[in-house]
Amino acid sequence: MRHINNPPNPYHKYSAEFLGEPPPTKLEIFEETATRKIITKNNSPDVGFDFSVNCYRGCIHACTYCFARPYHEFLGYGAGTDFETKIVVKTNAPELLREELKRARRTIDSLNFSFTTDPYLPLEASYELTRNCLKVCREFKIPVGIVTKSPLVVRDIDVLRDADVTVYFSIPFLTVEQSKPFEPFAPTPEARFRAMKILAENKISVGIAVAPIIPAYNDAQIPALLEKAKNHGATKAFMSLLRLPTESLRAYFTERLAERLPTKIDKILNALKRERDGKLNSSDFGNRMTGKTEQWQLAVKLFNLHYRRLGFEQEKSEPVKITEQKQTPIQRSLFDFS
Ligand code: SF4
Repeated sequence: MRHINNPPNPYHKYSAEFLGEPPPTKLEIFEETATRKIITKNNSPDVGFDFSVNCYRGCIHACTYCFARPYHEFLGYGAGTDFETKIVVKTNAPELLREELKRARRTIDSLNFSFTTDPYLPLEASYELTRNCLKVCREFKIPVGIVTKSPLVVRDIDVLRDADVTVYFSIPFLTVEQSKPFEPFAPTPEARFRAMKILAENKISVGIAVAPIIPAYNDAQIPALLEKAKNHGATKAFMSLLRLPTESLRAYFTERLAERLPTKIDKILNALKRERDGKLNSSDFGNRMTGKTEQWQLAVKLFNLHYRRLGFEQEKSEPVKITEQKQTPIQRSLFDFS
């Protein structure tokens, strides 16, 4: 059972604190008929895509490092358990998408599914909003990038097969034991690898997002993750460093780390600070998702070495626009997260 635990919302004048044990949380679904745009334009120069679609807000997978948590504060909720349990469902997303693409198809080179949520969170099994949006993309012949942690994506093989799409599985850890403290309600790494294989067997382009790299925790796993992904049919890969852009996210991440990995917290936070000039975050474009130390450069070298050794596809064959990093032609930042 989870208990309410939200860092104060920076947009609220007041915040409440429970004295003693806070009450348990419960899942709440808020259906919304979106009236605004469903396609979001990204203006950050170091994020590797321009347009994204999110049919949901909030994410039940509850990754402690999720950079999308602070977006929940714009809705008046908290970045902690609110993000995991108050899920907004944009029930008219496919219709909105069709209308927008009718007007703007020529200005949109590709669409990415994922940014403020996982497009295949469990609710998608019944709402089918991502599925129907993908059908719209197929209709408009628009290239699509998907980042997910969920095997539910396999359900949509029939749609994906005929589309110009790459599905990236976000798999930063090899085992459940390593994943659980950071991704408590996400499908197991093994389940993600299995789904990757099924898509690849169905001739759907798949990749691995080795992201986030949590210094002093999973950086040594880069070769094994790439190798396993390759053996499960992946032809693309990218990685990025852990990014904790807001105070609320840093507070939540640190608190969960203290709770779940008390013997490792100092090592992890100190290693992260070394990458960020003594802070837990860097907000400079171009540096936000990369590190500064030799340790990070080693991680990059490791990634590039095994990327080439295993024969992953080179930059020019990427269907989704990828931001090049100065220090390496191969390391990718499709998303600044997740
Ligand atoms: S990182 Fe992805 S899967 Fe995890 S909580 Fe965030 S949106 Fe969901």
